Amino acid sequence: MDLRSLSFDELKNEIESLGEKSFRAGQVYEWLHKKCVLEPGEMTNVGKQLKERLLAGHPLDKMEIARLQESKLDGTRKYLFLLSDGNMIESVLMRYHHGNSVCISSQVGCRMGCAFCASTIDGLVRNLTVGEMLGQIYAISRDIGERISNVVVMGSGEPMDNFDNIVKFVGMLTDERGLNISQRNLTISTCGLVPKIRELADMKFQLTLAISLHATTDEKRRELMPIANRYSIREITDACIYYFEKTGRRITFEYSLVGGVNDSEEEAERLSKIAKPLHAHINLIPVNPIKERDFVPSKDRNIKAFQNKLEKNGINVTIRREMGRDIDGACGQLRRKVISGTV
Ligand code: SAH
Repeated sequence: MDLRSLSFDELKNEIESLGEKSFRAGQVYEWLHKKCVLEPGEMTNVGKQLKERLLAGHPLDKMEIARLQESKLDGTRKYLFLLSDGNMIESVLMRYHHGNSVCISSQVGCRMGCAFCASTIDGLVRNLTVGEMLGQIYAISRDIGERISNVVVMGSGEPMDNFDNIVKFVGMLTDERGLNISQRNLTISTCGLVPKIRELADMKFQLTLAISLHATTDEKRRELMPIANRYSIREITDACIYYFEKTGRRITFEYSLVGGVNDSEEEAERLSKIAKPLHAHINLIPVNPIKERDFVPSKDRNIKAFQNKLEKNGINVTIRREMGRDIDGACGQLRRKVISGTV
């Protein structure tokens, strides 16, 4: 296992088994998870011998910035990281008045197959390790020299398809010995793997769960999202009720508006009926067109009408501010371009 993926207890056991004093675990852990070191050489008060022996069994994976694009519109930064095995992943930094928010990837590629998404076109390559998920946040924090206050797991990949690592990641990210990010400032987005939503609920984390709904009937949802062949909207909403009962946290539904596909007022009406009993928040996202597919975003007036309808029905709704449109902001676009050699 890579060094950044070891929990505090795992690190302590490892250091003790090397015959070293256990207080060294606190030092090393602090370097890794509070000071966010990216190179072993930066851990200056750790002896050379311990470092070498530790790294022999647990290499410190690199998070190399292969490419960086900054939006001229809103300062959003898109990072392309080169991983130790040569794979590349994307992360995004969004600067808000209330703080810095980082959107991370949870897998290299994705196997969920959503019709409008660029991340899934070449399928799943592999899960990211805990250290690679944390590393995206650490590397960005180091790059800008500022604290990160919010994290959203909404980049490439399906977090519930990398469940054990996500659970460990949540623990380490919100641990006071690390970045100590509040669970309430963490959002995990899923296309709706129902058994995993229930498992996550049982852990009683105080994080926000976002469900990518994108349709109001199973039939329409199946056209956009293959996962709808496995789980119905009803099964998802039942799991959402369970999640709320266990955690007391309201669900967010993400709804990407695709012109002429899922943006009618009738659909807004049905969406209201789905969201109302759950007191769910709805986040409308004008679909971000990708060149491999011919989906178009809804017209402004349709977006407005959709939103109005929801509001009239007493639903809490926001339209996602489009950030970084000029820098391939949509999931997986930049990685694809670089891999295929078009940039
Ligand atoms: N697999 C997870 C998280 C990654 S995607 C999930 O499905 O939720 C994050 C969000 O962006 C999801 O709601 C996804 O459906 C949406 N998305 C992906 N590609 C998009 C695009 N081209 N335009 C708008 N939203 C998109």
